[in-house]
Amino acid sequence: MRLDYLTIFPDYLAPLGLSLPGKAAAKGLVELHVHDLRGWTHDRHRTVDDTPYGGGAGMVMRPEPWGEALDELLGGPGAPGGPGSAATVVVPSPAGRPLTQALARELATRPRLVFACGRYEGIDQRVLDHARGRDDVAEVVEVSLGDYVLNGGEVAALAITEAVVRLLPGFMGNAASLEEESHEQGLLEYPVYTKPASWRGHDVPPVLLSGNHAAIAAWRHAQSLERTAERRPDLLHASHVAGEWEVVPAA
Ligand code: SAM
Repeated sequence: MRLDYLTIFPDYLAPLGLSLPGKAAAKGLVELHVHDLRGWTHDRHRTVDDTPYGGGAGMVMRPEPWGEALDELLGGPGAPGGPGSAATVVVPSPAGRPLTQALARELATRPRLVFACGRYEGIDQRVLDHARGRDDVAEVVEVSLGDYVLNGGEVAALAITEAVVRLLPGFMGNAASLEEESHEQGLLEYPVYTKPASWRGHDVPPVLLSGNHAAIAAWRHAQSLERTAERRPDLLHASHVAGEWEVVPAA
């Protein structure tokens, strides 16, 4: 998978070289490219923003640098990724689709993601509209990290990258650990414990020391259900709990 990031703060994305994405790059699973949007400006001040039409507070990112940057990164016969690898343009936005495990799974199947990290009041809408009509763009996905407002798309791009990259086949040493994680089965994960068996007066639940795998699996499932019912009842569906838990299915 190839990942490109367009930003006016390339340094903000330095953590891509560390930890998980860095490890994935070292394994050859991803190729990471960070680009300074100001490289596609032509004035002395390298201007990327202007006042909003219609008035109002703040500034809006101008379409020209974004258009030129996307032309260069995506277009033409020499487009990175080669034929048939039309990119998914990912636009972090508080008005986007909420980032969920299901969306991360979807994005992990794509050959190429191009992150367009907005700042100020966001990117001129025509950039997204135009990208949606391009042959070299498979889709434009606006993604929200949650119902709050960040100052820019970089932190969201890092979070989306981390959620996606750890799902790439071959990344996790033990793929089974992915399947049991929170949100994979639509439930929160059960509590986890390691050695020592007793610590500061708190004991590991005895079933986990029993060696009885069926009992352990049943206990974990019950804990997942209980946690989800307590903390995130909105996630519960009747299929999770058929015959085991009294819940009202999520709307
Ligand atoms: N005026 C915009 C609005 O009210 O929807 C907010 C703009 S925000 C200050 C600047 C940029 O931060 C956005 O263009 C987006 O890229 C990013 N951003 C802010 N909150 C976000 C969120 N919850 N999820 C993803 N990206 C976000």
